[in-house]
Amino acid sequence: MSEYKFDVAVIGGGPAGSSSAIHLALAGIEVCIFERKNFPREVLCGEFLSKEVGEEIKKLNLFDKFLLLNPQKIKSFSLKNNNLKELSINFQFEAFSLRRSVFDSFLLEEAKISGVKIFQPVEIKSVLKNKDGYALEGKKGNGERISVKSKFIIAAYGKQNILDKNLHRKFVDQKSNLNGIKFHIDKKYLNNFNSEEIQLYVGNGIYCGINSVNKVDATVCFLYNKKEFVSSPRLQISELMKKNKKFSELFNTGLNSILDELKIYGTGNIYFGKRELVKDGIFMVGDSAGVIAPLAGDGIGMALQGSSILCETLISGIRKNYNIDVIGGNYIDNWNKNFSKRVITARIIQWIIFNNKFRNSCIALVKNIPGLLRLFVKLTRGN
Ligand SMILES: Cc1cc2nc3c(=O)[nH]c(=O)nc-3n(C[C@H](O)[C@H](O)[C@H](O)COP(=O)(O)OP(=O)(O)OC[C@H]3O[C@@H](n4cnc5c(N)ncnc54)[C@H](O)[C@@H]3O)c2cc1C
Repeated sequence: MSEYKFDVAVIGGGPAGSSSAIHLALAGIEVCIFERKNFPREVLCGEFLSKEVGEEIKKLNLFDKFLLLNPQKIKSFSLKNNNLKELSINFQFEAFSLRRSVFDSFLLEEAKISGVKIFQPVEIKSVLKNKDGYALEGKKGNGERISVKSKFIIAAYGKQNILDKNLHRKFVDQKSNLNGIKFHIDKKYLNNFNSEEIQLYVGNGIYCGINSVNKVDATVCFLYNKKEFVSSPRLQISELMKKNKKFSELFNTGLNSILDELKIYGTGNIYFGKRELVKDGIFMVGDSAGVIAPLAGDGIGMALQGSSILCETLISGIRKNYNIDVIGGNYIDNWNKNFSKRVITARIIQWIIFNNKFRNSCIALVKNIPGLLRLFVKLTRGN
C-alpha cells in the first residue's frame, strides 16, 4: 500500500474539486485530488455554462485557455410550451456551452499543471477522522490500495455517493421522483435550430433543455418525474414529442433512424433539498453541498463559485490558525449568503414548470408583464 500526506485532500475531480484544488495550489497549499473515473468522461448535464462560469475561470487566469476549447457562445434563451407563444430573452451577459467531457478534462489538467497531485482512477471508499486530521483509503482500478493523511478534506464528489451514507448525512433517506437523462445529437437532425440559443421545452411531468455544444453536436437533457413517465429514456423522447408539438417539430425524420444508437447518460432520484455544508469537519462543495434545479443552468457556476468561497475561507483560516469548527462556521455563513435565495428561487420555478395546473397561467403572466422573465433570470443567477 502506498502512503502520502497532504494539507488538503479533495474527493472528486469535477468542476468543484478541480477548481478548489487550483485555488489552494495557487496559494501554496499542498493538495491532492482523488477522481474515481478516467477522463474524458460524461456527466448528466445540459452543458450550458452560465456567466458565473466565465467569471470564475477568469479568477483562475484560465479564460484565454478556455476560449481555445471553442465553446459555443449562447446569446438567448427561449421557453417553448405546447400551446402558448414562446417566451424568450436575450442575455445581457456572456454565456457558453461545451461538452462536459472537454470542460472537466481541461480543469483537471489545469489542476495538475498548478502542482496538484492527481490520483486517478482512484475511488475513496472510506474516511476516518483522527486527532491530527483525516485518513482516507482509496482503491485504484487495478485493486491497489492508497492511503492518504490530510489535515482537511473537501468533498466534491457530486450529488450522490456511498460516502454520504457512510457519513450519515441526513438527506440520504430522502426520496425524489426526479430522474434525468442526456444525450448528444448531430445538429443535422434538428430543424431551424439556432445554435446561439438555449431552448427549454416543457410538457406534463417533463422538461428538456437543448443547446449546441460545438460545430456538430447539440446536447439534449431531460428532467422528468418518474411517476408520470415509466417509459425507457428513448421512449421519453417520443413521449415529449406527443406532449409538446414544438418539440416534435424540432426533429426531422432522420431522428428515428438513430434513436437506438444514441448514447444515453442518466441518473435517478435527484434530491434538490437542503444538505449539510460541513459534516464531521469535512467541507462539502459543488453538488455535494446542494443541487440547484437544472433549469437555472447554474450548477457548474455554483460549483466554481462555491469553490472560490470555500477556498478563500479555508486559506484565510489556515493562515490565521483558526480551528476547523471556526472555518466550517464561516464557510456555512458565506455559502448561505451567496446561494440560499438562488437555490430556493430555482426550486420554486421548477415546481411551477412541473405543475400541470399553474404552468400555463404562470407562463402567460410572465409573457404579459415585461421585465418579469428578466427578474427570474436575475434571481437564479449570482449577485
Ligand atoms: C438534468 C441535469 C441537467 C443539468 N444541466 C446543467 C447545465 O446545463 N449547466 C450547469 O451549469 N449545470 C447543470 N447541471 C448541474 C451540474 O451538472 C452539476 O451542478 C455539476 O456537475 C456539479 O459539479 P461537481 O464538481 O460538484 O460534481 P460532478 O460534476 O458530479 O463531479 C464529481 C466527481 O467526483 C467523482 N467521484 C464521485 N465519488 C467519488 C469517490 N468516492 N472517489 C473519487 N472520486 C469520486 C466523480 O467521478 C465525478 O467526476 C445539471 C444537472 C442535472 C441533474
